[in-house]
Amino acid sequence: MTFLDIRGVSKSFGNVAAVSDVSLEIARGEFMTFLGPSGSGKSTTLYMIAGFFEPTGGDIRLDGRSILAEPSNRRNIGMVFQRYTLFPHLSVAENVAFPLRVRRRSGAEVSRKVEEMLALVRLERFADRMPAQLSGGQQQRVALARALAYDPPLLLMDEPLSALDKKLREEIQAEIRRIHRETGVTILYVTHDQEEALSLSDRVALFNHGRIEQVGKGRDLYDAPHTRFVAGFVGHSN
Ligand code: ADP
Ligand code: MG
Repeated sequence: MTFLDIRGVSKSFGNVAAVSDVSLEIARGEFMTFLGPSGSGKSTTLYMIAGFFEPTGGDIRLDGRSILAEPSNRRNIGMVFQRYTLFPHLSVAENVAFPLRVRRRSGAEVSRKVEEMLALVRLERFADRMPAQLSGGQQQRVALARALAYDPPLLLMDEPLSALDKKLREEIQAEIRRIHRETGVTILYVTHDQEEALSLSDRVALFNHGRIEQVGKGRDLYDAPHTRFVAGFVGHSN
């Protein structure tokens, strides 16, 4: 049943233990959020899954196989980051086409897929625009379309909406929820915003000082916090 299996993973940078013995099992199709304060190890954990950082210890298994030996671009993992993720010199359509061209898909398939992806994020009419002609929210929707273009089974998002204003953030959150429902992609989402975590995810893993303090449904973290830190972070004052 476990699709992504994070087993006792650690990462140190010199003397700094960024991530310490983190274990977590994520089911296929699940929407899991890493929540926690700045510097708690959320991004470092995500980047080890993506293949940007090599763990100091532990193993990461995707669909039953260890992926640690595979280079980042072979892991078939879609990614969306906070900002500046589009190629500025390529049109919207060519940005979305990029991962398909790298994989040498046929011209017909590229056209079909670009159309399908732009429809998914509701930007059909923007195919020929350049990124600089789009709002921040539209750019993030293009980044989402590009990340999903080659149907990766796993999508990683690191604070993709934190540069946007509240209204736009809520709009794109709704879009992300719909895309998750429609495509069944497994999502691992990083945020320091507890409201965002609670509204988006099936489960939340709350990070603190490089460790997971508690993992469960957002509601459970709120109603039954295991530690004082969890209670404080999700908004209780006791
Ligand atoms: P978060 O995403 O939760 O804000 P990070 O995973 O980025 O936290 O950082 C966790 C800890 O690791 C922090 O103390 C941070 O300073 C440190 N860290 C992260 N990346 C690096 C790096 N490339 N070099 C040195 N230290 C790093
Ligand atoms: Mg981070």
